[in-house]
Amino acid sequence: MAKPGPHPRNRHGGRYDFPRLVAACPALAPFLRPNPVGEPTVDFADPRAVRLLNRALLADWYGLASWDLPEGYLCPPIPGRADYVHHLADLLAGERPGPLRALDIGTGASLIYPILGRKEYRWTVVATEVDPGALAAAEAIRAGDPDLAAGIELRRQRDPGRIFAGVARPGERFDLCLCNPPFHASAAEARAGSQRKWRNLGKGAGPRPVLNFGGQARELWCPGGEVGFVGRMMAESARDPQLCLWFTSLVARSASLPQLQAALRQAGAARVRVIPMGQGQKESRILAWSFTDPSNRTG
Ligand code: SAH
Repeated sequence: MAKPGPHPRNRHGGRYDFPRLVAACPALAPFLRPNPVGEPTVDFADPRAVRLLNRALLADWYGLASWDLPEGYLCPPIPGRADYVHHLADLLAGERPGPLRALDIGTGASLIYPILGRKEYRWTVVATEVDPGALAAAEAIRAGDPDLAAGIELRRQRDPGRIFAGVARPGERFDLCLCNPPFHASAAEARAGSQRKWRNLGKGAGPRPVLNFGGQARELWCPGGEVGFVGRMMAESARDPQLCLWFTSLVARSASLPQLQAALRQAGAARVRVIPMGQGQKESRILAWSFTDPSNRTG
């Protein structure tokens, strides 16, 4: 089966243009290394290098100067994150005119989805997070850029077992929600996953990071893993079905889909979509559901 490629509107042309990125962010220069054929690259297993790569990319794409990440937090691969936002823009196109109002569940220290939604499509975004350190880092990025400050609001979720409750205000409405859930079911599983990633980068020997590429333990796992998290999201969405026109989440494992799709049928979702995504070797998918069926309007 053909693997899905990057979204056609993704600004990332398949490979990083390092000379251009260094021009946008000179601090990246000391981290450049030649790859086996002598072209510049960075060590993707070095969190400092990946952090500066992200900083450079956001400076180059959007002129954003305020992006940074404290040590130890999840450093997202930006091209893959951008694909999710582009696919959501397509999903909502034709259904909702004008800039969308989005709810980002678990925005992380990087504030990555709100930045992409704002800068690519002028979305206004409410972003939630349970981790106070991540929230403070996200707030520093937001406050450092007037456009982000105008279009993004951060809210702390005090109960990690809840998704919308406690952060959405009574009667509040969004066009969509998006989420990259913690996908491991335990700290031990998260650690094993990190070690697998580490080996795939050819770092079998030598000291191993405690976690992958930065990433606080609780960013990577929650009770029940991604099925648990997205399942809780579904259950809450069914209780407040008009909160979002489209509820969406990433699902990292295809094996998680059958159970989640069954839960959606049971919850009475009117529309369900699975949108495949792929960047490099990594495949993922968006699971989207809506309790509103435009072909079935009664009022
Ligand atoms: N969106 C970022 C971070 C994803 S990691 C990215 O794509 O890189 C998942 C994030 O969800 C973590 O930052 C974690 O602290 C947060 N989180 C976990 N449970 C949550 C909950 N119930 N509500 C909001 N955020 C939560």
